[in-house]
Amino acid sequence: MSVQNFDFCNPTRIVFGKETIQRLNDLIPQDAKVLIIIGGGSVRKNGTLSEVETALGKRHFDVFEGIEANPTFETSMQAVEKIRHDNFNFVLGVGGGSVMDATKFIAGAVKYSGDTWEIITSKGKKVNQVIPFGFVPTLPATGSEMNTNAVISRKTTFDKIGIANPLFSPLFSVIDPTKTYSLPERQVANGVADAFVHVMEQYLTYSVHAAVQDRFAEGLLLTLIEEGPKTLKNPQDYESRANFIWAATMALNGLIGAGVPQDWATHMIGHELTILYGIDHGRTLSILLPSLLNEMRKEKREKLIQYGRRVWGLQGSDEEKIIDEAIAKTRTFFESIGIKTHLKEYDVDSSAVEKVVEQLKRHNLTALGENGDITLEVSRRIVEASL
Ligand code: NAP
Ligand code: FE
Repeated sequence: MSVQNFDFCNPTRIVFGKETIQRLNDLIPQDAKVLIIIGGGSVRKNGTLSEVETALGKRHFDVFEGIEANPTFETSMQAVEKIRHDNFNFVLGVGGGSVMDATKFIAGAVKYSGDTWEIITSKGKKVNQVIPFGFVPTLPATGSEMNTNAVISRKTTFDKIGIANPLFSPLFSVIDPTKTYSLPERQVANGVADAFVHVMEQYLTYSVHAAVQDRFAEGLLLTLIEEGPKTLKNPQDYESRANFIWAATMALNGLIGAGVPQDWATHMIGHELTILYGIDHGRTLSILLPSLLNEMRKEKREKLIQYGRRVWGLQGSDEEKIIDEAIAKTRTFFESIGIKTHLKEYDVDSSAVEKVVEQLKRHNLTALGENGDITLEVSRRIVEASL
């Protein structure tokens, strides 16, 4: 099968490197009224916020603090109210994927005239204007700094829903790798896993002849396998950190996904595990991916063999063995960076299976994967195999 038609445009400007935060001064209009959005305070502690404030100089700005991990609709709406009330006209997200995702939603909700929950139920489609926004990312993982996606939760109703819109492209992201040095090991490992699975969701599908996308994807996977453990071991080593960060950005900025089938079932089922049990995003993916690959081994056969050979260097002519080993190596990789890959290791028992299936049903996620053939029954087996 040949590559599908595609329309690829990524307008986000990336400013990357040491001491780049001062560049905000020429990236944000002088007369902007800026609301800085932050999470629980890590960017205060590690000095990122004060550098941002210095770069903003004489501009009028204020800080909205309190976006939680797995950002909620409720908290994001408080920021929306503040922007509407105080007439801010620029939003600057400073933090991890949660802060960036919340900022996208906030930028789209400010001028939305209807009930803003519709932005979520329409999966972002109903947004038709955003106020300008940019980012200072501090956690390499989601790719949110250079893509059009966001994931928003509402805890009271157990919803964690992805939204997407071309308007959610940030104007810029200023990435200073040294600002990620303060990340706890757990978050770095989560980031490596998230980026790895982003590549896999766009690569490990049925085969199309997309030579460039495949080689790019394999290059990113190899980079994560090589640089991930290095950056975990030496968090302040600029070289490995910078390489890991750029791999995480490239993993989900549209480039490797152009013209190829995409899966995303691991993410969709993973969101249900996060909203039900509070398991970190990157961990839910590491738990589910090996089981999903095994469950879909027939449909993904050709690509699993390619992945085994090109990424893990597996040899020999026994193709079933290559597939088994490729899946086992994937699991071992997650475990080697300190991520447990079974639900029971997170104190989640078999009652989870039905609960996840119920959630998927309620969210209409009944035909997942690149072929739409991951039915509720298949999802059930995937979760069962992940216990
Ligand atoms: P995160 O939820 O943004 O942050 C996790 C933790 O790391 C927070 O406690 C945060 O603390 C801390 N942190 C961030 N930067 C730090 C730093 N430099 N030093 C020390 N601590 C730091 O994690 P994330 O993995 O980046 O984002 C996860 C969310 O993104 C999930 O909701 C997931 O579903 C979503 N996601 C989005 C996409 C997309 O395409 N948009 C893709 C995949 C996943 P503070 O709160 O104190 O800052
Ligand atoms: Fe993700």
